[in-house]
Amino acid sequence: MGTHEPLSRRAFARAAALGALPLPVLTERALAQLSYPGEAPPDAVLLNANENPLGPCAEALEAMDRALRKGGRYQFGETLRLARTAARMEGVPEGCVQSYAGSSDPLHRVVLAFCGPGRAFVTADPGYEAGERAAAFVQAPVHRVPLTKEYAHDVEGMLRAAGKEAGVFYVCNPNNPTGTLTPREAVEHLVRSKPAGSVVLVDEAYIHFCQAPSCMDMVREGRDVFVLRTFSKIYGMAGLRAGLAFARPDLLDRIRPYGTGFLPVTGMVGATASLEARGVVEQRREYVRKVRQDLMSWLRANQVEFVPSVSNKIMIRTAKPGRETAAAMAARKVIIGRSWPSWPNHVRVTLGTPEEMEKFKSAFLQVISS
Ligand code: PLP
Repeated sequence: MGTHEPLSRRAFARAAALGALPLPVLTERALAQLSYPGEAPPDAVLLNANENPLGPCAEALEAMDRALRKGGRYQFGETLRLARTAARMEGVPEGCVQSYAGSSDPLHRVVLAFCGPGRAFVTADPGYEAGERAAAFVQAPVHRVPLTKEYAHDVEGMLRAAGKEAGVFYVCNPNNPTGTLTPREAVEHLVRSKPAGSVVLVDEAYIHFCQAPSCMDMVREGRDVFVLRTFSKIYGMAGLRAGLAFARPDLLDRIRPYGTGFLPVTGMVGATASLEARGVVEQRREYVRKVRQDLMSWLRANQVEFVPSVSNKIMIRTAKPGRETAAAMAARKVIIGRSWPSWPNHVRVTLGTPEEMEKFKSAFLQVISS
């Protein structure tokens, strides 16, 4: 075969999985652009990517400032220091944690390592889409199973959909986009009942916004479980890039070959300082809770339907298609999130500062009454 001959799709996927071709890596930033593809005006209110308007905490800023001044050095040790700090704080052995530049990276790696033809990716609908797109790229079947009436993952439905052909069961808890929880017992049932050789990928990107129990104990117990955490949400470091994967050492070994492992030192030191800073999670959880309660009360008072959330975003139902609502809001310089094909009349709205939410409310009232 000549070097310029096109690769077959299968060979392409294989080459991509081996790192020879770029995988179309999808992050919330890229996905958020689905609802607003352009460059937002500088004075726009950004409620489209589940970011944290508070940014990094003071301790993280100081640590990153110091690291910047030593930026001529690789400072490899900081990657290890982050993993060690996280291991200590989560009570897992050091070999059960790996640092990454955000959690999108390990999310994609787990899909590449465990999915493929005959090894399905099983997810909730609506759910966070990055994993299913990576699965489709390596020609794995994708099963989207609707959330239950309570907006939890339908784990029985997920097990049935996969049959014996499962690679990864993806459980985002609390879920993106709905901000709703799947009870722990349901996740435990899934872990106990899944076919051998498959893994459960528990994405805890938003766990800090609520006080629901984590699945970290399943890692401690050595189950077939990955738990992902990110510093992009409660810690306000989306642009700085830091995240963690927790799993048994042999599972972490399976995802290690898909990258160089080189990580930005600013993200690493900022993440370590965020973990060590006192009260950050509690204060921010309370801040977001107040903004969320206020918005939910306001929506009720205005007879707007929504899905009650425990997270930093809310799915709001609109009379017209979500895309049209998002466009009308963008025209008023309030950029809201996308709609999901299975829920075309809902829009995802990230919670911002109280001032930003006032701008949201006034624009939203104009849009729904026009
Ligand atoms: N998982 C979920 C559910 C998300 O919503 C996001 C981002 O919004 C991520 C993972 C990845 O975030 P990051 O790569 O910034 O850590």
